[in-house]
Amino acid sequence: MNINEKMEKITSLCKRRGFIFQSSEIYGGMNGCWDYGPVGTELKKNIKNLWWKDIVQMHDNVVGMDASIIMHPRIWEASGHVANFKDDMIDCKKCKKRYRADHVQTETCPECGGEFTPPRPFNLMFKTYVGALEDAASAAYLRPETAQAIFAQYLTVLNCSRQRIPFGIAQIGKSFRNEITPRNFTFRSREFEQMELEFFVAPGTDEKWNEYWIDRRINWYKNIGIHSERLRIREHEKDELAHYAKSCVDVEYEFPFGWQELEGIANRSDFDLSQHQQYSGKKMLYKDDLEKKEFVPWVIETSAGVDRILLTLLADAYEEEQLEKNTRVVLRFSHKIAPIKTAVFPLFKKPALKELAKKINDDLKKVTTTFYDEIGSVGKRYRRQDEIGTPYCVTVDYESLEDNAVTVRFRDSMKQERISLGSLVSFILDKLAQ
Ligand code: ATP
Repeated sequence: MNINEKMEKITSLCKRRGFIFQSSEIYGGMNGCWDYGPVGTELKKNIKNLWWKDIVQMHDNVVGMDASIIMHPRIWEASGHVANFKDDMIDCKKCKKRYRADHVQTETCPECGGEFTPPRPFNLMFKTYVGALEDAASAAYLRPETAQAIFAQYLTVLNCSRQRIPFGIAQIGKSFRNEITPRNFTFRSREFEQMELEFFVAPGTDEKWNEYWIDRRINWYKNIGIHSERLRIREHEKDELAHYAKSCVDVEYEFPFGWQELEGIANRSDFDLSQHQQYSGKKMLYKDDLEKKEFVPWVIETSAGVDRILLTLLADAYEEEQLEKNTRVVLRFSHKIAPIKTAVFPLFKKPALKELAKKINDDLKKVTTTFYDEIGSVGKRYRRQDEIGTPYCVTVDYESLEDNAVTVRFRDSMKQERISLGSLVSFILDKLAQ
């Protein structure tokens, strides 16, 4: 399968099975914007919950917040985004195609060989106006990252949550970037979700914490089931570092279109807090009563994209398996990640079978995500579940009415096992916990 073929297959599966659709499709689509369907929404929720669990709930010294998307415009002056959040764009003089300059390796247009315009800087922040007047004084921005609200509020959060340094604030939320060329399906979008942690530490302890978070994050990706041989850490070269960073590594995944960034882990020094201190005129000092000293904390940031991770999970789990008579498409999601964990089918649409199947589905609903389906042949129903990565299908047949047992079919091996009704829920829960 070549690169485009695999991505096209994943894109078409996403639409067919309800993971992701083009936004505003009936009006011709909105470039760089995507809608998540029923199964995609479940998958997204799983990613966010697993991140929140590992970052916030598993750490006594990390708390959450949920900030507004539109903030005071001075925030973006202080952060450096107004001055620096720019990409160079170039246009082909012949075919008019636009490129981000650093994404083009050739001297002339790869599409038509035409000459390029000189590069022009383009600020990626979306501008809007707040209130009734559209003038310079009412201009504001949609946030291009969630981090800045955390910096601006760090002392308020620190005090109300009775934390001491080292401590972190985590946030999940939408970010917006007017990308010059959105591409590779959802990989580069104009509206996307980020999961960010800002971890505040005493100067001098930053490198130790940086190592801790790099380790923790790479293990998280492995734990949610991503193939470790397709994951790597790449350290930024000095000339690649963002203006605020002392050091930065990217967690990268080998997509069908090459190695690409999923997450950045940066040692941001005291840059952000010092900037906000200067621009707001408010002290950002942390007072350490025990050690009797005060300082502006340093920050280790982990910044991941939900949509990119979701695309990673799809690309990583997608398999075409050659069977005797045909090909089976299967998403081999880990149990933790699978959007739907069980599906329940009556073998035939007979009232007694339907009634029992619905009762089983109701019992499973209480403990996991499950889906009831009575339409089509059972073989087709299995295939539909394979395509959304459901690990277990439960089928009720005529014998079930006699022997109080059902058939459980395993997604990966396609093997089937007869399980008594009384132990079905615990059987499924045991399997899902593995
Ligand atoms: P790139 O170099 O790919 O433009 P970046 O280095 O500017 O990305 P960061 O600012 O470090 O990205 O953003 C942190 C994370 O947010 C990225 O690792 C990615 O997962 C996600 N992200 C950033 N931009 C986008 C986008 N346009 N679409 C989807 N996710 C994004």
